[in-house]
Amino acid sequence: MDRLSLSWRIGQVRGIPVHLHVSWFLVFAFVSWSLATDFLPGHLPGLSLGRYWAMGGAAAALLFLSVFLHELGHCYVAQWYQIPIDRITLFVFGGVAHMRKEAPSPRAEALIAMAGPMVSFGLGGACLGSTFLLESLGAAPSWHGLMVLGTLLGVVNIQIGLFNLLPGLPLDGGRVLRAGLWKWGQNFHQATKQAAWAGLGFGALFGLVGLMVFLGAMTGRLPASASSGGGWAMLIGTFLYAAAMVSRRQATLYHMLTTVPVRELMVRTVRVLSPASSLDEAVNGHFQVYGHGGFPVVDNGQLVGLVTVHDIQAVPPFLWSRRQVQEVMRPVTASLCVGPEAPIMQAMAQMAQGGWDRLVVMHDHHMIGLVTRSVIMRFLQRGEGPKPGDPAARGNGGFY
Ligand SMILES: [Zn+2]
Repeated sequence: MDRLSLSWRIGQVRGIPVHLHVSWFLVFAFVSWSLATDFLPGHLPGLSLGRYWAMGGAAAALLFLSVFLHELGHCYVAQWYQIPIDRITLFVFGGVAHMRKEAPSPRAEALIAMAGPMVSFGLGGACLGSTFLLESLGAAPSWHGLMVLGTLLGVVNIQIGLFNLLPGLPLDGGRVLRAGLWKWGQNFHQATKQAAWAGLGFGALFGLVGLMVFLGAMTGRLPASASSGGGWAMLIGTFLYAAAMVSRRQATLYHMLTTVPVRELMVRTVRVLSPASSLDEAVNGHFQVYGHGGFPVVDNGQLVGLVTVHDIQAVPPFLWSRRQVQEVMRPVTASLCVGPEAPIMQAMAQMAQGGWDRLVVMHDHHMIGLVTRSVIMRFLQRGEGPKPGDPAARGNGGFY
């Protein structure tokens, strides 16, 4: 079990790890229970309790298989567009496919989003169609149980497809809406914000209608059996609302990463070290005086490398007077330098690629500043973006 995400890895399909979230067991138990004690005895009277539970469990497992196939539908098309997928997680409200990138075009976005509901409609049609066929062929009474399950699965799959087509982020319909707005306005960020607003609206609407139904059932104006439906609608509404908020924050973060230039975050007074300085001089004259974690090393006006506190700590202190900065520094490579107009996203990619915790900002072969990982992180935290470590900050591809 992965403690951080509270999920178990149960297998891998098309190279995508499949996870089961703890909340899944709750729903599995709830669905099996309500089928075994209510739905099945109502539609198939006269069977043993054990039989009802076995059928209820099988139906619950098949419902989750349906949700999984819905997610796989998204993944299949996403992989066709070369979008890497971290994993599929099955949890209380269904499934989520974690994609690492945004779709490359409005058309790709719409097709990836549509693929899930299409799978659900296909499954629903197949279940209902084969049940209808069995019925019209005059199936034996022993097939009756199978037909009840087939109808149930068919109806639920079509409901899954329809619910996901509601046009508000992060639902599939919201993604189709975003694809349309994106194509129309040529602005991905704007389209995301608008589609997320629609998601907030649907979330609030579901929550309110659920609350009204629930209160109606409590006060006797609606049948008491409506209370659980109202409760579910409130839960789904809350979940939708929260997820739409995450979509909005994510869009803002992505927007900042791709539009704010390095120049706005860089430190303009850069202290540098000379390659021939001893580590003693570096520690006493630079690291302790300015408190920075690293300094560019410059020789005759040319950037030759970067030395960090870790490079120095790797050398025992009694050798500091005899070692020079150039012996411990990391020599300059293309990934250490970034232009002032490069977006933050590019700087972060270079830091990750080269293993740097700071980059030197160069303009016309002159060093004009320094940008550090911690400054970028602080900037992203101060903005509306999610904190680093928040699942929403990891990928910009989002959830389907
Ligand atoms: Zn979907």
